Amino acid sequence: MANISKFAAMNGEIIPFEQATVSVASSAVLYGLSVYSVFFAKHTPEGMLAFRIPEHLERLRLSAKMIGLDDVSDLIDQQKFLQTLKKLVEANNPTSDQFFRITIHASELVPGVRTRNLKLTLSIFLYDATNILPQDKAKIKTSLWRRTADNAIPARAKVNGAYVNSALAKQDALDSGCDDCLFLNQHGHVSELSAANIFLIKRNELITPDPSSDILEGITRRSIMNIAEQQGLKVTERKVALTELYTADEVFACGTSAFISPITELDSRVIGDGTPGPLTTSLRKLLKEAQSETGNWTTLL
Ligand code: PMP
Repeated sequence: MANISKFAAMNGEIIPFEQATVSVASSAVLYGLSVYSVFFAKHTPEGMLAFRIPEHLERLRLSAKMIGLDDVSDLIDQQKFLQTLKKLVEANNPTSDQFFRITIHASELVPGVRTRNLKLTLSIFLYDATNILPQDKAKIKTSLWRRTADNAIPARAKVNGAYVNSALAKQDALDSGCDDCLFLNQHGHVSELSAANIFLIKRNELITPDPSSDILEGITRRSIMNIAEQQGLKVTERKVALTELYTADEVFACGTSAFISPITELDSRVIGDGTPGPLTTSLRKLLKEAQSETGNWTTLL
């Protein structure tokens, strides 16, 4: 189990982690009605530096909007949010890199299946940042479970309940000795992994499923696209067929908790020469460097 912080924040108040709970009768627990994001913070001698907080807060706000919760702008007001984060970091005094999980829970008790006029609770806790996918060679398998469609539970919104879909497919992949699953959407196009986006490289072009392929529009995905464009690489968002992955020069997955994971085997087919490809390796280096640029970071202590 991940090493979780001793203290959490609930609606801005710092409390012992064990007391940071929502009721078993809340919509969050009964129906999975919560939205969340996870951001990375780097431990440095000068304190904790958090990566791309504004982007995470904006995605959280839009996730809540998409599923029809009341406006959460006040709840996640950036200034108040940063004050809470600073208090949280001070209380926990982390000594290594951390992931921060921010969740807005619909904490109303037994309201029935509706989304408006519900009490909302904001929780934040942190845990040691360890990658969820191998960083050298990952083996994945196309899932028989399809990605939830935009008109069912939108993958574009980071809704806790939607992660049942991810859990079903990931467990199936783990049972088959793979590291993760690859989701196709209802139309049979490539979508994403259980909690990471996917890119393929063919003839020096970087290709990734477009936002209408039932993906979460990852913040890491966007960073990689920007970096690649700055390097003069052609970057294309479009529908992707499964067999394009089989025949790609390189394939990799990316996300806050996956970082960049080279996919070297898919459905028992070796991708490229079965080792992390040169562009994947160079994009990983460039992403690390981009993560050193001060503009992307907020100092927490
Ligand atoms: N897709 C899904 C389903 C995810 O859960 C994640 C992780 N948040 C990602 C993609 C990658 O998103 P990000 O780069 O913002 O972490």
